Amino acid sequence: MISEKMQKLVEDNSAIREMFEEGKRLRKIYGDENVYDFSLGNPSLPAPKKINESIIKTVQTEDSCFLHGYMSNSGYEDVREKIANSINKKFCTNFNCSNIIMTVGAASGLNIVLKSILNPKDEVITIAPYFSEYNNYIENYDGIVKPVKSNENDFLPNLEEVENSINEKTKAILINTPNNPTGVVYSQEIIEKIADIMNKKEKEYNHEIYLISDEPYRELAYDNIEVPYVTKYYKNTFVVYSYSKSLSLPGERIGYVVIPNEMENSSQMIEAVTIANRIIGCVNAPSLMQRVVAECLDEKVDLEGYEKNRNLLYKIVTESGFECVKPQGAFYLFVKSPIADDKEFCKIAKKYNLLFVPASSFAYPGYVRIAYCVSYDMIDRSKEAFEKLGQEFINK
Ligand code: PLP
Repeated sequence: MISEKMQKLVEDNSAIREMFEEGKRLRKIYGDENVYDFSLGNPSLPAPKKINESIIKTVQTEDSCFLHGYMSNSGYEDVREKIANSINKKFCTNFNCSNIIMTVGAASGLNIVLKSILNPKDEVITIAPYFSEYNNYIENYDGIVKPVKSNENDFLPNLEEVENSINEKTKAILINTPNNPTGVVYSQEIIEKIADIMNKKEKEYNHEIYLISDEPYRELAYDNIEVPYVTKYYKNTFVVYSYSKSLSLPGERIGYVVIPNEMENSSQMIEAVTIANRIIGCVNAPSLMQRVVAECLDEKVDLEGYEKNRNLLYKIVTESGFECVKPQGAFYLFVKSPIADDKEFCKIAKKYNLLFVPASSFAYPGYVRIAYCVSYDMIDRSKEAFEKLGQEFINK
């Protein structure tokens, strides 16, 4: 018999599975060319060429027992040192290998941070809309999710509400910029304001309140917009980074956590997070991928591809009559549903073979997420379907 906790999760999962099955069913009936699946956040750009070259070189040149063996739970020291130096060069920080813990993507990075800081019933503030897995990750450690709704006009955090939501039980604020699902990037000014609030509240409650910055989309920012490095503005910050999107490697499961020396009791925290890597069953990040990303720290996917997709989809969506803030990063458009019920809107969109994710899955009903990590051609082909969908709601 599966556990009570898992029973609920299995039920919740059926909605995701249903959507996936629906895509498959539509493709069978109408053909791949005529179904416009904007539901998945799977990178559509290939990993840089150097990744595969580096994989081949690494397996051909490294000692097999070393390459495929166990290691420190925080990862290879030389890899962590290279990553620390690369961050220092880009953001004028002062990290070394001890500040970096290699992880199995951002998902495990978030889990080992939450495992290290949460006592049962501790609260974690999230800014809605947010990546729905946060609920699972926080509840894994008996924490309580406290969503604070972002502003409807710009999807930036409502700072007054953030401040009012902090109480004695608040252990962390979890932010994600560039954001899934809105594509919004928080400016330095916003980060500084969040830091001011948190400094004040730490003093008031006399304990640490951590800022967890979930950054799998850090490299996916457009129009030369700057994505501030959060440890520079608030000392009790964890940065959770991933190569899933920046190098198009989501299946390889590789990322890292940064814990700055400025954090209160940083050495103890680094030890706790390292041990958590072992205890949650990850043990260490994949060894081959650690060595490969260390060789490819200056590599990037061809961002122009996503930017072109963004511009075309934004044009089609807005010209079809829908409301949407132009995203500055990640690869999602967050579009206002023309009817209050976002799930119903997704059902109507399906009549035109358009597949979106209702934003009630991101704790922000009334909107849908349309992912543009798809082929440019598919976006181009979907124009007529969007126009027909728009027609249904004109003058309503
Ligand atoms: N955080 C956000 C906001 C995401 O969108 C995702 C994946 O889509 C993750 C974390 C998990 O990323 P990873 O593949 O690195 O575990």
